[in-house]
Amino acid sequence: MYGDGTLLLLSTHFYIPLGDFEQSQLDYIVKKVKVLRFPHLWVWHFWVGLLGLFGYYSRQMEKYIADRTKLIDASGIRKVFALAASLKNPINFSIGQPDFDVPDALKEEAIKAIRAGQNKYSQTAGDSILKGKVAEQVEKEFGWERPAVLVTSGVSGGLLLAFMALINPGDEVIIPDPYFVIYKHVINLLGGKCVFVDSYPDFKLPVEAIGRAVTAKTKMIIVNSPCNPTGAVYSEEQIKALAEIAAESDILIITDEIYEKFCYDGNCPSIASYYDKTLLLRGFSKSYAMTGWRLGFAAVHESINNIIEEMTKMQQYTFVCAPTPFQKAAAAALDYDVSALVAAYRKKRDVLYEGLKDKFELVKPGGAFYAFVKAPGGSATKFVEKAIENNVLIIPGNVFSEKDTHFRISYATSNEKIEQGVEILCRLA
Ligand code: PLP
Repeated sequence: MYGDGTLLLLSTHFYIPLGDFEQSQLDYIVKKVKVLRFPHLWVWHFWVGLLGLFGYYSRQMEKYIADRTKLIDASGIRKVFALAASLKNPINFSIGQPDFDVPDALKEEAIKAIRAGQNKYSQTAGDSILKGKVAEQVEKEFGWERPAVLVTSGVSGGLLLAFMALINPGDEVIIPDPYFVIYKHVINLLGGKCVFVDSYPDFKLPVEAIGRAVTAKTKMIIVNSPCNPTGAVYSEEQIKALAEIAAESDILIITDEIYEKFCYDGNCPSIASYYDKTLLLRGFSKSYAMTGWRLGFAAVHESINNIIEEMTKMQQYTFVCAPTPFQKAAAAALDYDVSALVAAYRKKRDVLYEGLKDKFELVKPGGAFYAFVKAPGGSATKFVEKAIENNVLIIPGNVFSEKDTHFRISYATSNEKIEQGVEILCRLA
């Protein structure tokens, strides 16, 4: 008499599964609950019931999931991908990886290693030849004698191992904002507290503000130069000033230098040259376009080599080792000259900057392959939606920041696409 709707309403409203009622029981309840006889209330109850059913099934789904997953918010990037799914041949300024392929000579090294049967686990800390070459390079560059080295599964792997080995719940980690997304989420997962220090609007290293943010709980400061998402390169003066602040309070520095090769206007100074209590993280993903090969390394001065020992212990029970045949190719990569590729990227940077600078507020990026541009109208999310409707994929700044005023462009694409994208963005400004 009341149909399926009534059955659904009654069952979901009280979180009782559908089949639990017999018709006679239903008739009785409906007789008692007179409001259900009024059609407009019936519709209202139908929707409330439907919500209840949704809630019931959500709770059922969630019972397996750990609470810490709620500490991670993936919504920013997901929104861009959802909007982008409908686009045909978009101008893709969203991807953070080079548009060139792994150089042939390095591919051959990997193939050779695979054919030679070097397909088993390597030592946990990495292939001895690669580790030796990294140690030699680090010693030469920073004057660190006997540095401790760990080969990691990308810089992401290095960051995870470092945070696991170093962060206690409640420890504070100072991070210039904007920042690379992984830092915030992994630190939160481990119960650490991110202390963001604003570097807007010029994206220089905010040394004085970092000094003011130091407390008794500060465990480390993260530096990322050249920076994702701003493309900023920190000057020697800023880096030295930060080293002094860190030394005063005996704070560890983590320097993420994954973009060290993409450095367009002179050198990119490293804090490792000025401060021994530095954990250096570098990688192969960007410099040699090996993002899928998952390779990076961590290195420290011998005075803090226990950090690498603890990270190696963590690696044993997580990644086990970095991919063995690719470690062989990475050893060859350390001798591979990428200056021509970097010169091509400098040109891309110039095309993008010259094309946008009269219409947008942006700081000329000195490195990496990103520009962080102020969104016209104030809301980056709104401007990004408009850009995507016009076939240009960019990422809203709030993915990388506590603010939503800028958007990130990755210009790791063809010069033709950069020109087309610039033209569309200028039209929308
Ligand atoms: N650090 C920064 C600043 C990055 O931009 C990225 C990747 O985009 C990574 C680390 C991680 O790189 P991978 O894990 O591929 O080495």
